[in-house]
Amino acid sequence: MQQTLSIIKPDAVKKGVIGKILDRFESNGLRIAAMKKIQLSTEDAKAFYAVHKDRPFYGELVEFMTSGPVVVSILEGENAVAKNRELMGATNPKEAAPGTIRADFADSIDANAVHGSDSLENATIEIAFFFSNREIL
Ligand code: ATP
Ligand code: MG
Repeated sequence: MQQTLSIIKPDAVKKGVIGKILDRFESNGLRIAAMKKIQLSTEDAKAFYAVHKDRPFYGELVEFMTSGPVVVSILEGENAVAKNRELMGATNPKEAAPGTIRADFADSIDANAVHGSDSLENATIEIAFFFSNREIL
């Protein structure tokens, strides 16, 4: 059993597809162990994406992630980290496999609908960034 962190990004929240995206997780064996809708501050977004701070798109990424509310959740299940990445599809929706969340709901490499932890180690760090133990059920 693994846990991974998912973020439904501002573009998908604005489109009104929170429920459709959560259904992808629940229909594919990922249980929602924690969830909240929040507005990230610039400081939050900078800290969360600090691994990308030297990349040319860092400023745009921070701006985009703070452009509206997001839905943060912990997904739990067998191979949850890889399973979630598989359901999400490639970073660039134009390259995402048909039937993936990004192929179906994302518009561009910036506005790409969802975030998912890319390793078990990062999942632990990202979960602790957003949730306290009493919020995980
Ligand atoms: P995420 O971390 O959001 O789950 P990812 O792991 O598929 O996405 P990363 O390489 O970690 O992709 O990049 C983080 C985010 O930065 C991407 O989701 C995307 O929104 C943005 N990004 C990545 N590459 C580019 C790029 N070349 N141009 C613009 N934005 C980019
Ligand atoms: Mg990533």
